[in-house]
Amino acid sequence: MTTLPPVVLYAGHPDQRAEYAEHLSAAFAAEHLDVRLIMDPAEIAPPEVTHLVFAGHGPLTDLTPYTGLRAILNLWAGVETILPRPDLPKDVPLCRMVETGLTLGMVDYVTGHVLRYHLAIDRYIGSAPITEWERNFPPLAGDRTVGILGLGTLGQACAGALKGLGFRVSGWSRSQKSLPGLRCHHGPSGLDALLSEAEILVGLLPQTPETTGLLNAETLARLPQGACLINAGRGALIDDAALLKALDNAHLGHATLDVFDTEPLPTEHPFWVHPKVTVTPHIASVTRPKSASKAIAANIVRDLAGKALVGVVDRDRGY
Ligand code: NAP
Repeated sequence: MTTLPPVVLYAGHPDQRAEYAEHLSAAFAAEHLDVRLIMDPAEIAPPEVTHLVFAGHGPLTDLTPYTGLRAILNLWAGVETILPRPDLPKDVPLCRMVETGLTLGMVDYVTGHVLRYHLAIDRYIGSAPITEWERNFPPLAGDRTVGILGLGTLGQACAGALKGLGFRVSGWSRSQKSLPGLRCHHGPSGLDALLSEAEILVGLLPQTPETTGLLNAETLARLPQGACLINAGRGALIDDAALLKALDNAHLGHATLDVFDTEPLPTEHPFWVHPKVTVTPHIASVTRPKSASKAIAANIVRDLAGKALVGVVDRDRGY
């Protein structure tokens, strides 16, 4: 009896179909994977699909007919919009995206914006640059503490890069960690310690019930006077009104926000015009089809070899 090869269905955005067809085919060939790759859901009977390459803005609105799935490989790192879907099969592993392109893009974004604050670059090239010979020397990176909320794939990569630039780096996670060269805090009790020392605070947390509204009037007040905030995790982390108040009363120096409660950020939202807020339109990082295809192929190889998949979402924790 011959066994049929696994069937991989690409169900990401149709606009990226051609690009993913090229990169998934190449990645599967490089891994010597004997799979059938289907690029259009209309071309396969749902029960035949074993591995679903999935995105929330893709064409599939009902996953219940996909009864033969071994894994759902999400093209995004965040899963907060997928987890509540009633059609999400309960017994099939769901993997969030872990791939080098996504990680490296975030490292670039975070280090760039940290350096902007550290060097006070806006003082010289901002909307009102200095017009007098007033010399303010920034401290050395080693005398500046950057706090990172979230020490997962992205938080650890950013922490490593900032450490490499010489910054003192503290991180906060749910579980206890010990990472070389980082001050690691964890759990609700560790949050105070991290906030009280973070002159630049970076948000790289997933959106869960526990992280929603975590940065509010009370927690923002624990940051040092003049601290700056960079949020590239999810917008729900921040109580917008509390942040605006902390910026207006000068407790916080500036905020760079890439993610928002509602996206696109509504045109009437005060963040757009606030002099102490930089808005970036969820461009901190993105899944790169070439490197993502390699990560997907490697995960399917792992699955077929009976090994643990990378990035499996713990549905109880919500990330
Ligand atoms: P990850 O590897 O799952 O890491 C999540 C981190 O958050 C972990 O360190 C986790 O702690 C920590 N955490 C979660 N809940 C917590 C809580 N209640 N208290 C303290 N720490 C908590 O995720 P990732 O790949 O680094 O991605 C992080 C998020 O970035 C994604 O969920 C996504 O929303 C966002 N993202 C944004 C962009 C963008 O372009 N703006 C791009 C990609 C991703 P443990 O280590 O103890 O589990």
